Amino acid sequence: MNSNATLASIAAALHDKQRFLVLSHFRPDGDAIGCALAMGLCLKELGKEVQVWNEDGLPQRFAFLQEAALITKPPQNPEAFDVVLILDTAVRNRAGAQCLQNISPGALWINIDHHVSNDRLGDLLYIDTSAPAAGQILFELFHQCGLPLTAPMANALYAAISTDTGSFQYPNTTARTYEIAAELVRLGVNIGAINQALYETSPRRRLELLRALLNVLRFSSQERVASFALSTQIARELGTIPDDTEGLIDTIRSIEGVVVAAFFEELEDGLVRLSLRSKDARIDVCAICAEFGGGGHKLASGARVGGSLADVQDRVLAAIDRHMSALAV
Ligand code: AMP
Repeated sequence: MNSNATLASIAAALHDKQRFLVLSHFRPDGDAIGCALAMGLCLKELGKEVQVWNEDGLPQRFAFLQEAALITKPPQNPEAFDVVLILDTAVRNRAGAQCLQNISPGALWINIDHHVSNDRLGDLLYIDTSAPAAGQILFELFHQCGLPLTAPMANALYAAISTDTGSFQYPNTTARTYEIAAELVRLGVNIGAINQALYETSPRRRLELLRALLNVLRFSSQERVASFALSTQIARELGTIPDDTEGLIDTIRSIEGVVVAAFFEELEDGLVRLSLRSKDARIDVCAICAEFGGGGHKLASGARVGGSLADVQDRVLAAIDRHMSALAV
């Protein structure tokens, strides 16, 4: 198995090479966007040629981040790079087909990630599954190796770490996470402004979507599993965009007595996007998602599953039920 490189050897590659591509996963969350942006800005500070691609482009809800326009959709034709940095991404195909097919062979691949399901892709790896966010690893890289760390980078890293820790609330949050947040504030993060932009600004359609989802909320496994599902038909009727669904699962995860929350989203390509959250360390939703070809973290995982919406719901809820009863929670 490919073992971890040192942060110093990754920093050396950043100094030595010239043409960089920064990638993160499709359907990007705050950690994916924040890491990609912070890394892209760091490389620019070092005077490097850098592009930052995301298969789905820059989600509107992160457009407020300084310099966020650095993140673009991949181009139509292949390009050559010395280094491809793939961040917050556990398996190569999560970078997206369009991104992958437009990278000419020959680059050094560097993977910095924190998912337990990471398949150790790349030539230089730094996988720390104890890190609550890939953004926390990036902070350590920049900080320990004397790399640039500007105010726009601090904002991007704050967005990464804050969103992946549920605003510093999830059990993966460590004392070090708070120390890093304090340092990011010292570097110029405006806490009130960034938290309002991240957590208190939603398009009305997202709330309409939540209303529609709560209408189809169901409970299973003796009321300990709450789930809802979004069909393409409802998404079209409400005019939602993929990003509108982010975080809605947290609403049902918070229900008293609920141990696992599940969200099913019918996609246009015939697959169903599955999101699972667990509130009990004994229920490993990464293991459940792995049964369906996905992965993530023990308490927050996902998968893309073939089948109709109803069929996928039945199969996944049955699998969750098996895990729940096996542990007799
Ligand atoms: P989500 O439910 O989409 O917010 O994802 C929760 C966590 O699981 C994130 O860390 C994702 O990166 C990860 N994840 C989601 N879908 C997949 C997948 N198909 N394969 C591997 N990891 C995934």
